[in-house]
Amino acid sequence: MSDLTPTSERPGLHVSKPSPSDPATASAVCHCGASATAKGDSQVKALVDGYTANHGPAHSQNGR
Ligand SMILES: [Zn+2]
Repeated sequence: MSDLTPTSERPGLHVSKPSPSDPATASAVCHCGASATAKGDSQVKALVDGYTANHGPAHSQNGR
């Protein structure tokens, strides 16, 4: 799984949930330099929402 983790060379968003009984984990790295990790379903959801709203594809929508 570690090779799916985003890095500054390969920005992106990765969410992992090993099994239904385990908390989800997520890591995100944006090409703008921002990075974040989260653990737990609600925190992962917040990270995904924030990343998609402000980073990644949102940069091109904002003209950045
Ligand atoms: Zn960004």
